[in-house]
Amino acid sequence: MKTNLKPATLCVRGGYEPKNGEPVEVPIIQSTTFKYDDSDEMAQLFDLKKEGYFYTRLQNPTNDAVAAKIAQLEGGVGAVLTSSGQAANFYAVFNICEAGSHIVASNEIYGGTFNLFGVTMKKLGIDVTFINPDAQEEEIQKAFRPNTRVLFGETISNPGCAVLDIEKFARIAHRNGVPLIVDNTFATPINCRPFEWGADIVTHSTTKYMDGTASQVGGAVVDSGHFDWLAHADKFPGLCTPDESYHGIIYARQFGKMGYITKVVSQLMRDLGSIPAPMNSFILNLGLQSLHLRMRQHCSNAQKVAEYLHDDPRVAWVHYAGLRDDRYHAIAEKYMPQGTCGVMAFGLKGDREVAVKFMDSLEMINIETHVADTRTCVLHPASHTHRQLTDEQLRQAGIAPDLIRLSVGIEDVEDILDDIRQALDKI
Ligand SMILES: *Cc1c(COP(=O)(O)O)cnc(C)c1O
Repeated sequence: MKTNLKPATLCVRGGYEPKNGEPVEVPIIQSTTFKYDDSDEMAQLFDLKKEGYFYTRLQNPTNDAVAAKIAQLEGGVGAVLTSSGQAANFYAVFNICEAGSHIVASNEIYGGTFNLFGVTMKKLGIDVTFINPDAQEEEIQKAFRPNTRVLFGETISNPGCAVLDIEKFARIAHRNGVPLIVDNTFATPINCRPFEWGADIVTHSTTKYMDGTASQVGGAVVDSGHFDWLAHADKFPGLCTPDESYHGIIYARQFGKMGYITKVVSQLMRDLGSIPAPMNSFILNLGLQSLHLRMRQHCSNAQKVAEYLHDDPRVAWVHYAGLRDDRYHAIAEKYMPQGTCGVMAFGLKGDREVAVKFMDSLEMINIETHVADTRTCVLHPASHTHRQLTDEQLRQAGIAPDLIRLSVGIEDVEDILDDIRQALDKI
């Protein structure tokens, strides 16, 4: 494929180039395995000496084509698809951590990731320190320990809508000899490409805008190929010393820039197995083909809705970086000049009951445990997604008890505004 294609073109054509007489749409290769005539050829595949397909948990042509499109969109060297965004964040971190490692993570992150790091990874012996992403560099630096292996943040946080200063985070990570992992789910590579600002690895919940139709759950891990693992070999033995479970391969040596992704596939997928069904990757690819158009419409609708809420006296506060007086407006202009995303957070004057009354009064807008699909939807994290967190943990994760998360879809914005207006009239 031609190089240097623009993002819109990559959304449509990336990852898969049919040859003469082949289908234009990525074929769904819904097959567990692949047949070989020659036993030696199969052996070479197992030794990673030859490239080819043998078992879908490790590699599958449909999954690989869609992973390649996402890698191209992010400007990375390689990507792997996972069965969910949760699996993507787990694999991205666990690929370079083990019992005894420590991670530093922004406290402005998705509730599921907060739990993954704070509860489940702790059970595996991996410790985490959550930091306020807006703190001064010196303050964040204090969280680092000799065994720190990763710095983690979200481009736009779910649900708080905080915007990450990626350059600042990259500087801190690299000063400490560790990579920066950025969850780019909400911005998507249409609005922000974190690798251009120094991030080393990007993750996605493809369940959200990338799919955009709420038809599949999936994730992706993308590597920029920029981080020099061998220069910090003592920190990353999994990449820089022989893998005895894979014939003594040293991933960072044998595969160079592809070492990190190769290890995710040939070690973590082999042992943990969170692959997407090829059918789901096909659906994801249908969504990706219009990502650039949808993001534009999500942003333009959300801007109008945010301005409407901002000016309504019944609304206590709105967090949307597109608003001029938002605390993240300047930083969003720098990293996302074309717009951020369709998700915003706001609070109504009054108690929790008012928030519930508002949501129950909506006629078109759905109450959903979801964001970032074509349909406008709302959620009240304190009583829905984050109900397992205590009030103290909620505050730690930057979530006010009255916070309503609104994901603005791509319907006609007048219909969205009408519904919000009539629901506000009923509170
Ligand atoms: C939804 C989400 C996840 C988790 O993804 P799933 O596909 O639901 O497992 C991770 N990070 C962010 C920012 C999300 O919005």
